[in-house]
Amino acid sequence: MLTKANTPSLENYWMPFTANRQFKAAPRLLASAEGMYYTDIDGGKVLDGTAGLWCVNAGHGRRRIAEAVERQLTTMDFAPSFQMGHPVAFDFAEKLAAKAPGGAEAKLDRIFFTGSGSESVDTALKIAIAYQRAIGQGTRTRVIGRERGYHGVGFGGISVGGLVNNRRVFPTLPGTDHLRHTHDPERNSFAKGLPAHGAELADDLERLVALHGAETIAAVIVEPVAGSTGVLLPPKGYLERLRAIADKHGILLIFDEVITGFGRLGTPFAVDYFGVVPDLVTTAKGLTNGAIPMGAVFASRKIYDALMQGPEGQIELFHGYTYSGHPAACAAGLATLEIYEEEGLLTRGAELANHWQEAMHSLEGLPHIIDIRTIGLVAGIELASREGAVGARAYEIFTDCFKKGLLIRVTGDTIALSPPLIVEREQIDTMVSMLSDSIKKTG
Ligand code: PLP
Repeated sequence: MLTKANTPSLENYWMPFTANRQFKAAPRLLASAEGMYYTDIDGGKVLDGTAGLWCVNAGHGRRRIAEAVERQLTTMDFAPSFQMGHPVAFDFAEKLAAKAPGGAEAKLDRIFFTGSGSESVDTALKIAIAYQRAIGQGTRTRVIGRERGYHGVGFGGISVGGLVNNRRVFPTLPGTDHLRHTHDPERNSFAKGLPAHGAELADDLERLVALHGAETIAAVIVEPVAGSTGVLLPPKGYLERLRAIADKHGILLIFDEVITGFGRLGTPFAVDYFGVVPDLVTTAKGLTNGAIPMGAVFASRKIYDALMQGPEGQIELFHGYTYSGHPAACAAGLATLEIYEEEGLLTRGAELANHWQEAMHSLEGLPHIIDIRTIGLVAGIELASREGAVGARAYEIFTDCFKKGLLIRVTGDTIALSPPLIVEREQIDTMVSMLSDSIKKTG
């Protein structure tokens, strides 16, 4: 096991989304994980308030997943998925289809495997454009995202994404545009449940239709609940309105459920929570409990069937990854689904949501807090930024919490919490009390 004594040099690994020099000067290294806790290399226990990176929904160290992966790797480590197949991928797709977003009625049960959330997003955008072409709407190539949206880091994802730091250095794809974001603290701050104000912001899609012409737009992609950009909840009625406008103009609706998929909101998917059915759903994270990288796009039968045309010997969608449907990832996913099912984890968030909401809102009134937002087992606690130093206050709280033994996540000056769905009420209370101490200490 990794300990302080055998820690390798930190020079060579170029860390993702990390201030490398700052980190390497004062590293935080995790050595093992079990249940709700990490153990760092000094042997300190760290309560996981973030399910790793929103992905370890069934908690850490699940033997069943490890054993399934080991069994698969020793039976068949890899098999190509181009013009070849293996039963595990078909089995996983079938089992996922039985749990697909929106249930049987939504018919979102044609599943394309990817290796990550970013790949799921690029895949969904490409499927949407290919679908429009297949139905004779080849001029529809534009894809619309939303300000403050996060859709991963591929060129497709950053182009429809709305985070300035992901965009300012890199060129983005032509033929994209953005809806306005829905964050409106002036009208909605400290509201419990969905924000009451802002459904009309969905009409922004009408503005973009008027600007570009519906016949140029293939799809609109949104996170039903934006996670990485600060836990932004959709105003009541917003998603319904977006669906209606998209339908009116022949535009496909894509929900990016990389975070909300697999129980995070207390329902299996956000589609189930909001009762709004999109045409494509992107997932990753909870799909394999974070154990093996994998993503999946759920497409409607309408889309799949439209593409299954032309000569039978012709590849219908020129797209795929070497690791699409990787046997070990599928094995991990199958074991994960069994755990979710047996332990009722995909709906456990609903049982805890009230306790979670009250616990988080008990922080109201502490210094610097300007908003608290919760849904299912997600919370965003927004702090006022220090003058000229956006993010500094939250980062200080993050490092202080880690020292105390709590892992939180910060984005800008918003603290985001999303624990494994096995979390107990007392652990929620512990998180709040540790967080409260750190917030009080921060100037
Ligand atoms: N989409 C959403 C909504 C996400 O939250 C994320 C990651 O946080 C992604 C896409 C990208 O996923 P990945 O980091 O697996 O590429």
